[in-house]
Parts: sequence; C-alpha cells; structure tokens
Amino acid sequence: AGGVANLKVTDSPPPKSKGIDVIKEFEQSASKKHASFVVVGHVDAGKSTLMGRLLLELKLVQERTVDKYRRQAEKMGKTSFALAWVFDQRSEERDRGVTIDIATNHFETDSTNFTILDAPGHRDFVPNMIAGASQADFAVLVIDASTGAYEKGLKGQTKEHVLLLRSLGVQRIVVAVNKLEAVGWSQERFQEISEEISGFLTGLGFQEKSIKFIPISGLNGDNIVKRSEDEACSWYTGPTLIEGLEASVPSTVRSLQKPFRMAISEIFRSQQGTTTLAGRIDSGTIQVGDALLVQPSGESAHVRSIMLDTETRDWAVAGQNVSIGLAGIDPVHVKVGDIVCHTKDPINVGDTFTMKAMAFAHLMPMPVDLHRGRLHAAGQIQSIAALLDKATGEVIKKKPKVVQPGSVARVLIKLDTKVPLEAGQRVVIRTGGETIAAGLLE
Ligand code: GDP
Repeated sequence: AGGVANLKVTDSPPPKSKGIDVIKEFEQSASKKHASFVVVGHVDAGKSTLMGRLLLELKLVQERTVDKYRRQAEKMGKTSFALAWVFDQRSEERDRGVTIDIATNHFETDSTNFTILDAPGHRDFVPNMIAGASQADFAVLVIDASTGAYEKGLKGQTKEHVLLLRSLGVQRIVVAVNKLEAVGWSQERFQEISEEISGFLTGLGFQEKSIKFIPISGLNGDNIVKRSEDEACSWYTGPTLIEGLEASVPSTVRSLQKPFRMAISEIFRSQQGTTTLAGRIDSGTIQVGDALLVQPSGESAHVRSIMLDTETRDWAVAGQNVSIGLAGIDPVHVKVGDIVCHTKDPINVGDTFTMKAMAFAHLMPMPVDLHRGRLHAAGQIQSIAALLDKATGEVIKKKPKVVQPGSVARVLIKLDTKVPLEAGQRVVIRTGGETIAAGLLE
C-alpha cells in the first residue's frame, strides 16, 4: 500500500464542464432540502422524550421497541422514561443493563431531510451542545410548561443555551412549550410563557419573526406530528411541531449563491491514482469539470465525477453529502479538515483572525486551540479588543484585561499555522480539552 502516493499518475485531460445552471436545475429537480437542528433546554424539560416521540410517530422506531423499553422501565419503576430511551443513548438508566438497538438522527418529511444534531443527554450537555449548535441551521428550545418548573428552567440552562445559540449566529428558534397536558392545555399558561420567552429572546437580539411557539405534549404525542385530539386543546389551530420545523428551514437559495466551500471529512485514493474527497457542501454549488483548489495547500484539480449517496451526478449543492472524484491532484498535500473551493473564488488562508466570542471561562491573552468542524489549529489569544453588549453587539469597554464567563467580547487570535477560514464562520476555542469560548469570525 505504502507506495500509492508515489505512483506516477498520467492524467487524461480534465473533463469539460457542461455549463449547467445548477441553481435552476436544483429548483426544478424538486430535490429535498437538507437541514440540521439542535435541541436545547433545561434538564428534564422533556427533550429526549420529545425526540423519541418524533421518531416513533415518523415510524423510524417501532412501537414494539418502545413497548420493550416500557417493560424494562417499569421494572425500574420509571415507566415514563421509555420514550426518552429511544433517543437518549447516554442515559445512566440505559447504561444499567438495557440494550440499545436503535440510534437514528435522521428523518425526512415530504419537503426536507432533517438531521438532529447531538442527542440530548442528561449530563455534560453544554460541551456537546456547542458541537451541535456549531452546525445547526436552527434550534428547538424545549420549555417545561408545568407549574414551577418553567420559572426554574428560564434562569438555569435555558438561558445559557440560548446565549450560546445567539453567539454562534443561529437565528431561528422553534419553542416547544412542552408538558402542556399537565396543566390541562391552559391557553393562558401557553400565552404567558410565549410572551415571556419572546421578550427574553428578542432582548438578546433574536428577531420576532424567526421565533415560533408550539404547545405540545411530548409524552402523549400531541401536536408533534398529529394534531392534538384533546378537547382542552381545541383553541390551538397553529402548526404542529413538524410543520414548525419545516417552516424554520432556511431558504437554500441564499447558501447556493455563496462561493463553493466543502470541508473534507474523508480522503480515498485508488490504485489507479484517482483521489476522492468526501464531505458536506457548506455553501455554493459544484459540477463536473469545475476547477478546484484545496486550501491551505493550494493544490488544484478538476472535478471528474460527483457521487451523491450511491448515485453519480453532474452537480451537487450546499447541504448535500458528496464524494468528489478528482483529476490531476497530488493527495499527499490534502488533509481531512482542509477546504475545497473553486479556483475562481478561493477561500483566504491566514493566521490572524478577529472573533466575536462568548466566554465560558475567563479569557485573556493565553494559548488556545481554534476549532471549526474537523479543522483545528494551535495559537493564542493575542489581545482582547473590546467587551460587547450581548444583545446589540455594541462596545461596552475597550481593551479589557480579562473577559468574565458569560460575557461577549471581540478577541484577536493569532495561530501558529495558516488555515482556511473566513468571516461569518462559527468557531470554538478550547484549552486543555475544555471549550472556553464559541462565536463567529468577523
Ligand atoms: P430531558 O432531560 O430534557 O431529555 O427530559 P426527559 O425527556 O428525560 O424527560 C424528563 C421527565 O419529564 C421524564 O420523567 C418525562 O417522562 C417527563 N416528560 C417529558 N415530556 C413530558 C410531557 O409532555 N408531559 C409530561 N407530563 N411529562 C413529560
């Protein structure tokens, strides 16, 4: 095997582009949209139960599997946890002798392929959520509407999670006002909670039109996929949760018009000397014959073939997971985490970045690792330019010595190596294996 990289590859001339108007083709092809979301909210708000219910109603989980969990849960005196087990792979209860035989994070509706990012667990939630939120197109915020619990939740993790979403630039939120059956489907309670959460979210800079409120019962499956048949809920005529999810999927057109970007998640080399790069297209479109550049190495290549799932295609668009067969590239200089772009519209490579960061620990000039997806690089916080208002982003204080946890600041980062990154991207900074800040590059 070791000699593959040294094989002398005699390339045939690059394939000619068919000059396809990819955006038009995509719109006419009625291809499904792709969207990813993260589920946030206080511990015990009902996140796992809700996701279990969703998968059950969409028939991705069989009733008899849930029945099995119910029997196992009953033995432990915790019947209500059966649905949560469907989804929550980390549950401690689950670890004690209950086997896992389903784990799916994907489901689809007529219009959209959804990915649920990071199964909500009971503990260690924030670090996992950061990874999920970094990729999310939108978020589902689960609120426990049962008396007392809701007030506690808003002060606790809910606030922390929402601030993180905001700092990562996640704009759309579906608020699932959960356990409403436990308060007799009180319309008053629903409105009270919606108004308060709406004020809280808009106060942090979310736009009202990007927030939806849906009264649900995850446990009983009301207003998730099917409308509630409970008389007490007849006042509600709005969308179900699944309709709310569909309506929150950002329009793909905007991300298709952006320059082509794909982070490499896998690299395959064939004996014949062709190189195939796999990844999810972050933005833009691609077609056979396109001239590509891999950054940071600056290696250039032409697209020979495109595979979507197991089908060969002439083109692909943002959101799709593809394998791109390349002509004329030396794979030695290509690594997982590198960015593929068009030669005519390349991503910049640099080692100095400004980041609008939300701090989870004290920030000051110090060594850090910068992460974006699989790309990571060592460097340091060089200086702190300003402390910012969380909601408006306005400068509160220039050149603070330290940033307190929970605050937002503009931070200058200098990396030891040059990496392909650009404004608007979501990044995380870590030190000693802990995430200390997350935010957007400016
Ligand atoms: P998570 O920590 O947010 O994932 O919450 P879980 O899904 O583990 O649920 C926590 C508790 O709330 C469990 O006892 C669930 O049975 C219960 N629960 C979840 N959804 C509902 C609901 O719609 N109504 C009621 N009454 N209880 C619920």
